[in-house]
Amino acid sequence: MQYNVSSKKNIKSNLNEAIIIADIRKNRVLEEINLLNQKILELKSKMNLYDSLYEVTLNSKNQITLRDIGNKIGLNISKSQIHFNLSREIIKDKLERNKKRLLSQIMSIEKNIKYLEEELSNIYICPSCGGSGTIIKIQHHREGRHVTTMKHPQECSLCKGKGKIK
Ligand SMILES: [Zn+2]
Repeated sequence: MQYNVSSKKNIKSNLNEAIIIADIRKNRVLEEINLLNQKILELKSKMNLYDSLYEVTLNSKNQITLRDIGNKIGLNISKSQIHFNLSREIIKDKLERNKKRLLSQIMSIEKNIKYLEEELSNIYICPSCGGSGTIIKIQHHREGRHVTTMKHPQECSLCKGKGKIK
């Protein structure tokens, strides 16, 4: 975004424009964070379900219960299966892998939320000076063949040196 700082009126309208853009961005980021938090809640309730199924699987002495749990998580455990303890192990293994997968999904979503929250905290940083409140004007002085470059810090006209637009 470019800011024409030629007149006071322009600066005022540029500032308003920058604030409107930041407000829109803020709402989008908040919405996204909200969606991700909902997703985490869903995943956590799935995790609780797996935990309770695991508990039942550990203690169940009933082949039909195990078969039902197996069906619930997409395993075809036959009622007549002779190896009762083997089906228990298969179900435990599948539940553990499911939980691991959920956990890594939750962690990656939490990481995304962290990034978004960081973005949120930077949303009203002045787009003109990047938050420093000053703009460096570069001037070249020529003396004969010798050119020196001077850097003059000037107060940012968009944020009036505050570094933030709101
Ligand atoms: Zn500024």
